[in-house]
Amino acid sequence: MSCILLCVDILFVCDETYDIADLYDRIVTNSPTSTIPGEKPIIQRIEVPLTFDAEFFQKLQDEVEILESLQVGEQKALVGEISALSNDMTALAKPSRFRKTDLYRWRELFEIYLQAMVFFSTHELDHGSRNSGSAAKQLQWFQSEIMRRGIISSFKLPASRQAFERFVNINITLLRNLKFQEINQTAISKILKKFDKRTHLGAQSKFPKLIGSAITMSEDMAKAVCSQLSQELIKKVPQLDDYMCPICFTIAWRPVRMACKHILCISCAVTLQRKRQRFCPLCRGDVILKADADNIDSEVENFIEKYFPKEAREKRIAVETERGKEQFGESYKHPSEQRCVVM
Ligand SMILES: [Zn+2]
Ligand SMILES: [Zn+2]
Repeated sequence: MSCILLCVDILFVCDETYDIADLYDRIVTNSPTSTIPGEKPIIQRIEVPLTFDAEFFQKLQDEVEILESLQVGEQKALVGEISALSNDMTALAKPSRFRKTDLYRWRELFEIYLQAMVFFSTHELDHGSRNSGSAAKQLQWFQSEIMRRGIISSFKLPASRQAFERFVNINITLLRNLKFQEINQTAISKILKKFDKRTHLGAQSKFPKLIGSAITMSEDMAKAVCSQLSQELIKKVPQLDDYMCPICFTIAWRPVRMACKHILCISCAVTLQRKRQRFCPLCRGDVILKADADNIDSEVENFIEKYFPKEAREKRIAVETERGKEQFGESYKHPSEQRCVVM
């Protein structure tokens, strides 16, 4: 009879446990093992009929393929859903002076979502991918924070509520996949461990790739989906952080683009010039005194006025108030603060 040294790869898919585990139990129960306490284990060679083994590997191969295609299918569905939601987001968060828009509410919502770092953390203590347990906690925090701030009830467009539900569902689906892969990974390593304990064949060290494959698969999926979420969906709603002046940390109203390409708000650029400071605070390039009115980046200026109208207005009033005080003294009041009194 032909014989083969046995290797075991076993996967559990969803909540169905395949009979490979039974197969494995039958194999290891029938195999001879050293049982004398204190004695070094005798290395055993397990012989199984080739037909039996081939059947085993075929089943195993099938399960791996099912798992992979399941993953591919799930990822494809998620990618499609994110694209569809991104298209809808264009209308929901469209900047408009005259029509109803949820631009500010979506911005706040995505800002909280980015803060939550549901699937990946950039904190020093827990840097990297999260496991399903901590991802679930972060997602819960995100949802409770949204509720606490009353963002959903303040949506002006009914379609925004539906879009929010879809956004949460995308996250839940990704979380479910992460959990599913973790269960597979635990199952694989437990089975290989049990197998090694009984046979001393070192299957765990021979198949680290197999144990790691479930982790890699879920990490790859989480990375791909999260990057699409931020690149395609969240980018539809520009965040304030990306348009802040690096000196005063408020919006770069009237943005001055230096020759080094860095942008400062006009107020900070003028302050530096008055102090005769020559060097860019970010790159130390000798650019500040060379800047003039031509350095105003009108494209970014229009973008800021369009997407951040409230912040731009507040900054304009603050800058104009400062100039007014310089010209007319501390008692100067900006026209927006003065009340008309009808006699
Ligand atoms: Zn500034
Ligand atoms: Zn610079």
